[in-house]
Amino acid sequence: MSEKGLTNISVKKINRSKVYQYIYRKKITSKLQIVQDLQMGLSTVSQNLNLLEQDGLIEKNGYFESTGGRKANAIQIVSDFRISIGIGILKNMFHITAVDLYGNALYTNTIPFPYSNTPDYYKQVTDKIKEFIATNQYDEEKILGVSIATQGITSPDHSTVLYGNIMNNTGMILEDFSRYLPYPCYLEHDSKSAAFLELWKHPELDSAVVFLLNRNLGGAIITNHQIHQGSSMHSGTIEHICINPDGPLCYCGNRGCLETYCSANALEQAAGMNIKDFFSLLREKKSPQLTQIWKDYLHHLAFAMKNINLIIDAPIIISGYLAPYFLEDDIAYLTKHINVSSPFALNKEHIFVGTNGQYTPAIGAALFYVNQFIHAI
Ligand SMILES: [Zn+2]
Repeated sequence: MSEKGLTNISVKKINRSKVYQYIYRKKITSKLQIVQDLQMGLSTVSQNLNLLEQDGLIEKNGYFESTGGRKANAIQIVSDFRISIGIGILKNMFHITAVDLYGNALYTNTIPFPYSNTPDYYKQVTDKIKEFIATNQYDEEKILGVSIATQGITSPDHSTVLYGNIMNNTGMILEDFSRYLPYPCYLEHDSKSAAFLELWKHPELDSAVVFLLNRNLGGAIITNHQIHQGSSMHSGTIEHICINPDGPLCYCGNRGCLETYCSANALEQAAGMNIKDFFSLLREKKSPQLTQIWKDYLHHLAFAMKNINLIIDAPIIISGYLAPYFLEDDIAYLTKHINVSSPFALNKEHIFVGTNGQYTPAIGAALFYVNQFIHAI
């Protein structure tokens, strides 16, 4: 093929991509708007719209209000053209989700199923994933991949869990799952998956610190619109910051880690009841004892946030299982306690609260393939 031929193909591909990305960003648009904003010729835009529509990637859906003359077609992407499956593996259960091209969770479920690092577990869990895909009647070619968020730090190539003290899954490999699944598979540390979802929801943030308030605590650092991995993949593991050298024993073998004060497990233990009951009783405001437990929890969280904010001067995102339980009053209380001992005030508006609860890591994991797909068009 001549050089000119190649160039023409690349230009065509670039234009197709530009048009698709534009529609994706705008969510709903018209041909004229694309022509104007991309400064592309009408015939080029028309041609690309036809191609994208033929491929099933975009659709015309209704009309814009006419400002005189013919009504313009409303153009949007087909958001369920492809679907990504996200899995969140925990000690006693796993979460499963199907996510569309906008990152909306079309479906979420929790399946009680204790983890064990055995071939039988991987066989059964992947059978359940296949069953989930079949039950929801997702065509095989629709599935971009299965992305698995696990507790534990992965190797830089995401093939192996290098540190898995919570679930005792050190040495777990991606192939344990992928050998049974006819889809591309990916493995990620659950805190990083959660941070990916929060970053997806806050594309305006250059930097942030994510506090993942799950059954076990997690965290992640976002800088330059990316999740900071670190020299040995453990950047952002705020759960092992020591806040009291004589404190309770942590699963890592040390004492007084933030995990032992601010994980949902620690809160449950202090309250002597499950999280759901704790918050419903707490909000009734009848138990001074529960109010005190919650205040103590927030004090410890504020202590950690204050110190971390001195290292990473950036907004804080409260994410994961406990996040949807936070009220505005809690954020105000937290901010007050962060600022009481800090030379630099953290504005209440710089604390964001995630909305996906316990499904945050699974949805974030699924976004790995969505992100890859969108950028490859
Ligand atoms: Zn620890």
